[in-house]
Amino acid sequence: MIRIIVILRRNSVAIFLFACCLFAITSVVYTHGFHPDLEQWQKRGLVVTSVDTKQKVVALTFDDGPNPDATTEVLDLLQKYEARVTFFVLGMHAEKYPELIKSIQYHGHEIGSHGYTHNVRQYNNPQFARSDVQRSLQVITSISGIRPHLLRPPGGFLSRQLVSYCIDEQLTIVIWNWDADYKDWKAVDSCLLAKQIITGVEPGQIILLHDGGENRQVMINALSLALPTLSRMGYRFVTVSELLALKNQ
Ligand SMILES: [Zn+2]
Repeated sequence: MIRIIVILRRNSVAIFLFACCLFAITSVVYTHGFHPDLEQWQKRGLVVTSVDTKQKVVALTFDDGPNPDATTEVLDLLQKYEARVTFFVLGMHAEKYPELIKSIQYHGHEIGSHGYTHNVRQYNNPQFARSDVQRSLQVITSISGIRPHLLRPPGGFLSRQLVSYCIDEQLTIVIWNWDADYKDWKAVDSCLLAKQIITGVEPGQIILLHDGGENRQVMINALSLALPTLSRMGYRFVTVSELLALKNQ
C-alpha cells in the first residue's frame, strides 16, 4: 500500500512538473511571436513579420538603441550604401541620448518604439505594457516631433490586450522574420553573421539587428560585409513603412 502511495506521489510530481513546463513553454510561445491569433492579426495588417513583394527590398531593423557606442557608426555605414532602415529605440535610451535620435532622423531613417524599459516580463501585465509604450511614444515624439506609428514590443511580446491597445493608438506591431533572426547580439564571428544575412535574404524580409547592447562591433563588421554584397545582388534597403507600401508589388 505504502509503495503504491509513493509511486502515485512520484507520478503526481512528474505530472505536475510536466504541466509546469508545458505551461511555461506555451506562455513563452504564445507571447513571443507565435501567438495563436498571429495569422489573423497578420491578415488584418495589425502585426507584420514580413511583406509580400517581388521587389528586391529588405527592411533592416535595429533594436535597443540609441547607443553612443554603435549608433553613429551604423549610421555612417548605412549612408555609404544609401540604406534607409528603421530603428526601434528604447524610450529610456532616447531620453538619455536625444542627439542620436536627431541624428537618426537627420539621416532619413524611420524611428519606431521598442517600449520604454525593455522589461519584457512585465508586459504580461497589460497596464504596465500600455504605460511603458505610452511613455516611450511621449519621449520619442518630444525629441523628434514625430509620433511613431510602429511598435516592436520588447522580445517580440504579443498579447490580445497589447494588440487591442495598438489598434486604439493606431500603432502597427512590427516583429521580424523568424528565420532572419541571426542572434547578432551574441554573434562572435562577423564573417559568419554576414554570410547568414546574405544567404538567407529574401524580398520583403524584415531583418532583426541590434545597435543597442554591448560589443556591437561584430554586428557592425558583418553589416559592412553584407551591405555591399546585397547591393551587388540588386537589393535595396528601405524603412519598414516603405516596405509596407510595396506590398503585393
Ligand atoms: Zn530588444
